[in-house]
Amino acid sequence: MKKVEIEKMSWTDMRDLDKEDTVVLIPIGTVEQHGPAGPVGSDYVVARQFSIEVAAASDGVVVAPSVCYGLSHQFKHFPGTLTIRPSTFEALVRDVCEALIGHGFKKLVLVNSHGGNEASCDNVAREILDRHGVSMGMIYPWSLAMHLGRGMPDLYENPAKAFGHGAEPTISVMMHLFPGQVDESRVAAGTRKPTTEALKTLSATRVQYQGFPLGLYRYSDEVYDNGASADPTGASAEKGKIVFDRMVEYGIGAVGELRGLLGQRQ
Ligand SMILES: [Zn+2]
Repeated sequence: MKKVEIEKMSWTDMRDLDKEDTVVLIPIGTVEQHGPAGPVGSDYVVARQFSIEVAAASDGVVVAPSVCYGLSHQFKHFPGTLTIRPSTFEALVRDVCEALIGHGFKKLVLVNSHGGNEASCDNVAREILDRHGVSMGMIYPWSLAMHLGRGMPDLYENPAKAFGHGAEPTISVMMHLFPGQVDESRVAAGTRKPTTEALKTLSATRVQYQGFPLGLYRYSDEVYDNGASADPTGASAEKGKIVFDRMVEYGIGAVGELRGLLGQRQ
């Protein structure tokens, strides 16, 4: 069976890889609440499994050990959320990338499954470009599901109800990836806490004024009672398999596209 995970390789396996063209996927997530039933490791588990399946179905793609911890400050009051500082996160991701570049790899792709990490991933990628002249890629595995379900219109009639944090697609995918481990009796929709008219539009970092966003930083538990920002009821392992398989199919094409783009510098 094809070996795609670096953690399973020897140094001689690594030596023999084509450093010019091998794409190294670096799965990145965080450890944070995903509502009362969602596993706290959901983000890095999805990033890792997505990367492994994309690599297994592609030629010349390997997967680095995951960066499990990330930036989940807004969820820190929920037990099990283990957030780290942006400076720690950026240093960790940068050092992993520089270690790979030190071994000669030139095509690095961050597979980031947590939206809150994105700005820091951008910072690292720009720093790596400046320091090493290496242009990196980034993939958000959920993008297919996130854009109002555009990638899955047959599965979600009402995307506004289904999508959000700790929402149905995540719980379904985790039921698929962790069979029998998600407690279905705890799957429940989140409800907004009673709040003033202005704060009814509050997300973790934004409030709307006359239809436009203003920055306003709060903790998630000031907004949602159980941590979920949408309705995950109706989640199932069967649906999770369909969603995940489509994400992987998209990922295989996206990595192929990035491989070509990373090899072209003007
Ligand atoms: Zn997340």
